[in-house]
Amino acid sequence: MAERRVLMVTGGGRGIGAATVRLAAARGWNVVFTYASNAARAAETERAARAAGAETLSLQADVADPEAVALSFAALDARFGRLDGLVTSAGITGPRQRLAETTDATWTQVMATNVVGLAACCREAVRRMSTARGGRGGAIVNISSRASEIGGGGEWIHYAASKGAVDTLTVGLAREVAAEGIRVNAVNPGLIDTEIHAAAGFPDRVAKLSAGVPMGRGGTAEEVAEAVLWLLSDAASYVNAALLPVGGGR
Ligand code: NAP
Repeated sequence: MAERRVLMVTGGGRGIGAATVRLAAARGWNVVFTYASNAARAAETERAARAAGAETLSLQADVADPEAVALSFAALDARFGRLDGLVTSAGITGPRQRLAETTDATWTQVMATNVVGLAACCREAVRRMSTARGGRGGAIVNISSRASEIGGGGEWIHYAASKGAVDTLTVGLAREVAAEGIRVNAVNPGLIDTEIHAAAGFPDRVAKLSAGVPMGRGGTAEEVAEAVLWLLSDAASYVNAALLPVGGGR
């Protein structure tokens, strides 16, 4: 039997990251994932992934903390000694505010998490997967957002702008490492039914806004995970630098 490939998922405790961890486990990956603070939910996700046959490692690690990022990749090296894929799902919206009400602290925190932390994880992954550095290649899927194109006006321009940076990073990195065996793509979810909306103080956001989605409903984390797993898979072997909307037409 082929050796199971190893996937790192940031923000894998809940939501889209957790659905990705579970589906990856079912599709034959071993999975390392990080979370911010909710150990109980991370343990639940880890149990499900193990039940699906994966070897797993879950780590509490704030993606905005460079030391925590370095430690999580070191833990991955120690446990599995290989890396074949990275999914960057750890992300925050920050408060739901018009730009005129935002503070520099909000901008700094959202950018540190969604952009600087994500870039640090991509850097660690490239260092391990690049064939130019002795790696065996791999795939990166960044979780961006349809907000990067919609702009987040009236809700969270700070968040939308951070996802614009993720889109640009994705395309740039894809072209930079394409000849080194690494494909880099993004999934841009629309309105997805997770707890991220409640965290921003708008628990019924999906129900309230779903009439504006061409398909008339919000999506599920599992529907996003399907797109992520396809981009990670060999079935997407010629897909690179793509920003894939998963938003029901939104
Ligand atoms: P979620 O349900 O709030 O889950 C977020 C996950 O990321 C949790 O496991 C959380 O850890 C972890 N996390 C948050 N901040 C972190 C940090 N600083 N360091 C490490 N882990 C961190 O969110 P989601 O809806 O699944 O969102 C996942 C990604 O999809 C985000 O990048 C988001 O921007 C993007 N997205 C979501 C939607 C949507 O409608 N839901 C739409 C477009 C894009 P804890 O469990 O410990 O808190």
